[in-house]
Amino acid sequence: MTFRDKYEIVCGVETHVEMLTKTKIFCGCTTEFGGEQNTHVCPVCLGLPGVLPVLNKEVVNLAIKAGLALNCEIADFSKFDRKNYYYPDLPKNYQTSQYDLPICKGGALEISVNGQKKTIGITRAHMEEDAGKLVHSGETISTSVSSGVDYNRTGVPLLEIVSEPDMRSIDEVLAYLEELIQIIDYAGISDCKMEQGSIRFDINVSLRPIGSEQFGIRSETKNLNSFNSVRRCMEYEIERQAELLDEGGQVVQETRTWDEGKGITLSLRSKEEAHDYRYFPEPDLLPLVIDKDWIEKIRETLPELPSAKRERLQSLGLSEYDAKVIVSWKPMANFFDKALDNFADAKILANWVTGDLSGLLNAKNSSFEESPITPQQLVGLLKLIQKGEISGKIAKSVIEEMFDTGKDAEVIVKEKGLAQISDEGELEKIITGVISANAKSVADYQAGKESALGFLVGQVMKATKGQANPGLVNKILRAKLSE
Ligand code: ADP
Ligand code: MG
Ligand code: ZN
Repeated sequence: MTFRDKYEIVCGVETHVEMLTKTKIFCGCTTEFGGEQNTHVCPVCLGLPGVLPVLNKEVVNLAIKAGLALNCEIADFSKFDRKNYYYPDLPKNYQTSQYDLPICKGGALEISVNGQKKTIGITRAHMEEDAGKLVHSGETISTSVSSGVDYNRTGVPLLEIVSEPDMRSIDEVLAYLEELIQIIDYAGISDCKMEQGSIRFDINVSLRPIGSEQFGIRSETKNLNSFNSVRRCMEYEIERQAELLDEGGQVVQETRTWDEGKGITLSLRSKEEAHDYRYFPEPDLLPLVIDKDWIEKIRETLPELPSAKRERLQSLGLSEYDAKVIVSWKPMANFFDKALDNFADAKILANWVTGDLSGLLNAKNSSFEESPITPQQLVGLLKLIQKGEISGKIAKSVIEEMFDTGKDAEVIVKEKGLAQISDEGELEKIITGVISANAKSVADYQAGKESALGFLVGQVMKATKGQANPGLVNKILRAKLSE
């Protein structure tokens, strides 16, 4: 018997998103990633005595925008609080965050797993400052003789988005993360560069006996920054907790860390409670009052979000799968929409965008942002097929040539003489030749062997290097053979 028969998985995720502002949340230092250590700093973000923070309005704008995109209620009154703890990457010994009155509350997003739709609740989203980074002399903290600290990241604005414990499988968690990141990306809240730590997840997992109403005790694994780590971490935690429970033991409520190399989680510290942090209102910042006008102004800047985009594409005839693929990648979706402005058949367009063009881009390790074929040029190619000037088969070689040379489809077709032969007189001449050279197939066909016709069509296509209009060839052949 495996845990899968016995226990149900319960998971809630806290997601930290670095917001896309030019400057930090309480000072004018740049938020740029990297840079020489301790060069993106000033007395404010270093927490020197006597300085005062000034809230960056753009941070509030982005937090409101994210809240609206996640269907949250935006609080007309919220405030900042100090979360007190000591760690070398936190120069002030407290993090300015939001505690009991966050800016966003009560949102939701929809996921789809194996065609099954489900709503995942968003408990809250609040603004806070990022901490610095420890720089170890060795590979890990335990194998290092010394560690330095880089405060460049200190004070970079974060939005912490907390989900309800609504997820019941690893697939649901991954679907939630994917949807959340797409929304954040489309709304322009973050650059979403996961490899640079722009988005980090804390995964809370617990198990409970199937059928039980009560949640089990959870562990929280901090700071995962890839889907793959989330999946592996959850697999490990589920096995670890199931074994503990199977032996009659108890899961300890604690904070754990993920060891990517070993593929295991390790206990970091026993779970701290809110009161351990001695939260109190930040005395150096005024409470934040947001009126309806401000919220409405931000609402107007919201672009079409992923779920709405998928619905629109499906209403144009795309399959759920194709809509999902196109929307999952913003540059591809932008390309698609630009082409759609000048080409009405969304399904044909989707086939070429997700098929041939994606394939060519992948093969060159390139992306839609740098596609040598513009949306307008792809439309040019598709219109040639529509007008019957080239066949779909010829178009597949034309698109390759377009990709390599950047030339328009029409130019390539003209230069290489690839235009489809739809001239009946010309086709008749070729067909007459094929008929007299293949007396046996002709006789077979006339004796009732239908498949012989396919062979004869093939001969005509061969003679014209695939350029004959297949519909016409069929028609003329049949007519000639029944003469
Ligand atoms: P904190 O981690 O700061 O103490 P919360 O109590 O708000 O905060 O919970 C954090 C996250 O843990 C939330 O995403 C919530 O959905 C999730 N969570 C809470 N209880 C459980 C549980 N029993 N099992 C799994 N996840 C849980
Ligand atoms: Mg937590
Ligand atoms: Zn600064």
